[in-house]
Amino acid sequence: MSDLFETKNQQKKQQQQDDEINGSHKPIISEEELSDTDVLIELKKIKEELKDQVVVLGHHYQQDDVIRFADITGDSLQLAKEAANLDRPYIIFCGVHFMAETTDMLTKSHQKVILPDLRAGCSMADMAKRSEIDKAWAFMQKSTEAKIIPVTYINCAATLKAFVGDNDGSICTSSNAEKIIRWALTQGEKLLFFPDQHLGRNTCFKMGIPISDMVVYNPNMLNGGLTSEQIDNAKVILWYGFCSVHQGFTLDQVHATKKRDPEITVIVHPECNFEVTQAADDYGSTSYIIDQIAKAPAGAKFAIGTEINLVNRLAREFPDKKIMSLSPYQCLCTTMYRVRPRWLLASFRAIKDNKPINIITVPEDIARSSLKALNRMLDIK
Ligand code: SF4
Repeated sequence: MSDLFETKNQQKKQQQQDDEINGSHKPIISEEELSDTDVLIELKKIKEELKDQVVVLGHHYQQDDVIRFADITGDSLQLAKEAANLDRPYIIFCGVHFMAETTDMLTKSHQKVILPDLRAGCSMADMAKRSEIDKAWAFMQKSTEAKIIPVTYINCAATLKAFVGDNDGSICTSSNAEKIIRWALTQGEKLLFFPDQHLGRNTCFKMGIPISDMVVYNPNMLNGGLTSEQIDNAKVILWYGFCSVHQGFTLDQVHATKKRDPEITVIVHPECNFEVTQAADDYGSTSYIIDQIAKAPAGAKFAIGTEINLVNRLAREFPDKKIMSLSPYQCLCTTMYRVRPRWLLASFRAIKDNKPINIITVPEDIARSSLKALNRMLDIK
């Protein structure tokens, strides 16, 4: 498997070199060439011109000036599935790298997936590397005779999804994490959950697993900072990763918000810390948060613990409700924010010139193993 990892790395390096040659890490369309307003005007025109060839996907956390050009908005898995049904040859994914990879795996071979800015990564996904997982897995296998089932949050590189596919595990999303973990614990005695420790901990605790049955494996420490005995005694092994955006929400903010307005409902994403999810009135995936707001009566008040672009958009979409961020600071996904309208326009221009750039391709062998894990997830009832 480490060969596959190397192959992927080489391909990525090659892609980066190609992109540098093509100039995709520099603003291809400079501000001197086109003002922000002119970029939006040209985008409108070129999108109409290429409407039969291109579908634009916009993740919920994307900025408004990009979302206005999205044909479909949603979470990463939903977008990938819908793009596959549309059958257009080019899919521009206005999200981050792992989302474009998942889309490449789920769409047909003639469909090309484009990430407008290759620097749009995910800090959480970067916290679990394939070589680290392989090392951790070897230590865990040595430490216990119990069967460990690996489950990965969809927010990770394809190489990790492949690991899970090849080791009887599954992928999960923040919407189905509970169902998938429940399944995993019927297939084995222990769970290895990566890369987000918070989604893993919050979900397992909700299912009745005590915190004392969970340990955290930190790849920056020798043997993850754990003894073999700790591995053998634990029910759940959580990878230490986290989302830097959702770490911006704190217990103090929950208390201060409730003190200011005891009537307000605090809902946070399960990527938030354990103490934040426990103090909040409710927590759930992005779609769960949207549903709760949509079905609340007029006049309802919410303080939301998730990415600021989505919170601001919800506030505009539901003017009859009071919707604010739980944090006084801008909890912005800065990597997603790298996808600017001028990068989107550069992607469109390249397609028009028949020289598409920033195509995300998952090597076949990795895609095959990853799809085993994805399909397992979709089959779990
Ligand atoms: S919000 Fe967090 S988990 Fe989502 S893409 Fe940004 S850094 Fe990654």
